[in-house]
Amino acid sequence: MLGKKTTPNISAEKCTACGRCQLACQRNAIGLAYEKYSVCAKLMYPERCSGCGKCAKHCSAQAIEMTKSEKQKNTAPRFKKWDKMLAGVVNFLL
Ligand code: SF4
Ligand code: SF4
Repeated sequence: MLGKKTTPNISAEKCTACGRCQLACQRNAIGLAYEKYSVCAKLMYPERCSGCGKCAKHCSAQAIEMTKSEKQKNTAPRFKKWDKMLAGVVNFLL
């Protein structure tokens, strides 16, 4: 997205996969992904991200840091089928 100054940088080590960032994101840019036998938040659709920082504000684990880099470092391999299923499970549990 043009003009974007910050982007979420997610720490897989700190992320507890609570799903709050996903719920906070009004652009549906961030979500939970299954990767290497664990689930953590990923910036799934960087092109949708406005850099608003709401995901970081809602993360109680301080797993999201807004960085100034234009380059998207945290794009995840997309597991669309798993994403939807896991997001549904997380939303159900919350
Ligand atoms: S910075 Fe804003 S738009 Fe980007 S993923 Fe976080 S909540 Fe969504
Ligand atoms: S709010 Fe934080 S701890 Fe919860 S899923 Fe998002 S990045 Fe992970």
